[in-house]
Amino acid sequence: MARVVVFGSSNTDMTVQTPRLPAPGETILGGSFRSSPGGKGANQAVAASRAGAEVVFICAVGDDELGRRALDLFRREGLKVDYVKVVEGVASGVALIFVDDDGENMIGVASGANATFEPEDVARLPESLFRPGDILLAGLEVPAAAAVAAMKRGRAAGMTVVLNPAPAPPKGAAETAELLASADIVTPNRVEALALADALDEGDRTDWRAVARRLLDRGPRAAVITLGSQGCLAATLDDVRAIPARRVKAVDTVGAGDAFNGALAAALAQGRALAEAAAWAGAAAALATTQHGAQSALPTRDAIARFLDDGQAGESQV
Ligand code: ADP
Repeated sequence: MARVVVFGSSNTDMTVQTPRLPAPGETILGGSFRSSPGGKGANQAVAASRAGAEVVFICAVGDDELGRRALDLFRREGLKVDYVKVVEGVASGVALIFVDDDGENMIGVASGANATFEPEDVARLPESLFRPGDILLAGLEVPAAAAVAAMKRGRAAGMTVVLNPAPAPPKGAAETAELLASADIVTPNRVEALALADALDEGDRTDWRAVARRLLDRGPRAAVITLGSQGCLAATLDDVRAIPARRVKAVDTVGAGDAFNGALAAALAQGRALAEAAAWAGAAAALATTQHGAQSALPTRDAIARFLDDGQAGESQV
């Protein structure tokens, strides 16, 4: 079976629950604290592994306690971490999150080691990592120049290159053209799709087919736009399919996109065609929304298969 190589970020999410969000200069007591592994790259790598893929995860961590904890956890999840960059004198990435009793949040991210990735780091990776027929999944919580270098190397080697353009570069950013031109498949959510296509948000009237066409005009052979509880649109130049979401009782949709991307990469590695892979990824993501947490909520391959076999899993229309 083909392998999935994930090139992306690793962070530790540190969350403090407070009755309300603090104002500048204010200290609020009484909140509980939770520390959990995160970062889009790490979430997607774990998602792909639980979904049944053999996964190589390339990220950067600091030479510190949080970095060592992250590496331990990746190993326990079965990820191959031989090519993780351990950066001396730089902290591992951290997201500091306040969540109030209404679920409103405030987040500050210190990218730390994630921000140290350079194209030269990609150039130093061994040839054996870039195998024809394998899947490369790249994200943008690391510098775009490094992501582009990884994508180009993957492309040149005959890998299928999937770009999850999250977070989206600002509208009109210089690197957007090169990012899109270096990807085979691009997987934005609504906000990212509009930013990349330089299109206006027209709310319910947004023509996602037109947005997908604008993305395809700029290089990738396929665009999968995820539309939250409405599922996704999987578009190629000659085929556009609206794939409905599985109907579930969602309790936490944070990280749904990561569950989707990891499972999509795993399904492509298993040789599934794009629309079928997207439907399978949608089932994995729907399942992930039924539990709290990002990585802890990611379903296994068996759980996804059982969920799809279960006649209860209805579909909501796009
Ligand atoms: P992101 O988390 O990046 O914002 P989306 O919100 O578009 O991404 O969600 C990604 C995918 O997760 C969707 O395409 C869908 O398949 C699934 N999903 C998200 N929210 C729900 C939901 N409430 N019910 C079922 N599936 C969902």
